Amino acid sequence: MKDTFYITTPIYYVNDVPHIGHAYTTVACDVIARYHRLRGEKVFFLTGTDEHGEKVAQSAEEHGVEPKAWADSMIPRWREVWERLQISFDDFIRTTEERHERPVQEFVQRLYDRGDIYQGIYRGPYCVSCEEFKVEGELLEGNLCPIHGQPVEWLEEENYFFRLSKYREELLRLYEEHPEFVQPRERRNEVVSFVRGGLQDLSLSRVSFEWGVPVPWDPKHVIYVWIDALQNYITAAGFGNDPERFERTWPADVHVVGKDILRFHAVIWPAMLMAAGIDVPRTVLAHGWLLVGGQKMSKTKLTGIHPFELTDHFGVDAYRYYFLREVQFGQDGNFSWESMLARYNADLANGLGNLASRVLAMLGSYFDGAVPERPEGEAGRLQEAGARLAERFDAAVTSLDLTAAAAALDEFVREANRYLVEVAPWKLAGDPGRRPELAAVLYEAVEALRLIAVYASPIMPDAASRLWEQLGIPEPLAGQVLPEAARWGSIASGTKTNRGEGLFPRLDA
Ligand SMILES: [Zn+2]
Repeated sequence: MKDTFYITTPIYYVNDVPHIGHAYTTVACDVIARYHRLRGEKVFFLTGTDEHGEKVAQSAEEHGVEPKAWADSMIPRWREVWERLQISFDDFIRTTEERHERPVQEFVQRLYDRGDIYQGIYRGPYCVSCEEFKVEGELLEGNLCPIHGQPVEWLEEENYFFRLSKYREELLRLYEEHPEFVQPRERRNEVVSFVRGGLQDLSLSRVSFEWGVPVPWDPKHVIYVWIDALQNYITAAGFGNDPERFERTWPADVHVVGKDILRFHAVIWPAMLMAAGIDVPRTVLAHGWLLVGGQKMSKTKLTGIHPFELTDHFGVDAYRYYFLREVQFGQDGNFSWESMLARYNADLANGLGNLASRVLAMLGSYFDGAVPERPEGEAGRLQEAGARLAERFDAAVTSLDLTAAAAALDEFVREANRYLVEVAPWKLAGDPGRRPELAAVLYEAVEALRLIAVYASPIMPDAASRLWEQLGIPEPLAGQVLPEAARWGSIASGTKTNRGEGLFPRLDA
């Protein structure tokens, strides 16, 4: 029985240079994965690399090495980005691994045995950069890939085809019965009308090069790289290797993808699974593009920004927070250095960072750093706001609206800062008769910080752990899961806090 929350990034094309678009997808998945762990769930978070196809073979040849060696040499630049961005994946699959290739053959053989694969001739344009067959009508100037602006190859070769067209009705029923299958809604509408328009069978193999998984019954063919790649989601979960683990893990709860690869995930992938008699994933979540100067990022147009260009300046936590908070998840969004700087200073330096340093400084001056007694009586203003944060954050992440989650956190921080300005504990401190009031205010404030550490942890794991440290709360209390972790009043009086360094120093332009 399934007992694991399973979330995936797309596997990235090993030849690519990681840019902030890849990181956007991966951070989003990481936030969702961390939040589900915070809820005490068992989580399997998968990422990896897509290493077959003509483009990899060509690059390897240009560099005079074997394709596998070429792919090996590309892996560190992916791993170093995910490490720096604190991506907590549980598995990193490479499509050149035996644990992937053999089950892929098993899967394709199953489709063949069931009569869903047949032989035919493919004629038409193919873009090697996309690793994708094109429709003549979409080419620019009759010959150029609309995405890459490079000439396409004209293929005429004997291929195996997958009977995709056969699954039209079943797919439409899936979208109808499970409106949550494609998210957000406008993307679902696009998929539905595409499938309504009719589906063509899909070329599933290539014969003109060898770098791929051989078709088991006809090994001079290799399996089309996309068909091979999609299966990472089941092979990494144990399909063909560990049936018991597969049972506990599959179906995936969420495949997070960019909208440009939605059709592969929301049409072809479920159809293939249907053909194989395997459950389809629960949700395919397509996010928008990050635009730079209004254009989709790409290496060829020199608009690709490497994440380190930003983390070096803003830090990893701010990087992770910014894109989720700034770009409505699901929509396209513009990246600019100016907006990132503005967001950093407003939400993190003046918001969260300022709140923490203020509260900890006051605890230091008025209570020698020790958390005062919890006040008796009714719930205070921040306790109520904290309950709303818990509710909103949970609703947001479980409905995959990560922007709303980041906003809920930010609004709680703002509320806490407003509260301090209004009650002005620094004035209370001047009057010995109002000491109990001062204690009550600071207890509220320090509990608010603790709650912030809990809810910041999926988005800004490093800032959260520094905050725990400053609050003087060691593991395992800091490692508690929800809902206990959010229970108001769990910081013990007398806990020794220390101000430490500012979480988010203000940055100048
Ligand atoms: Zn292309």
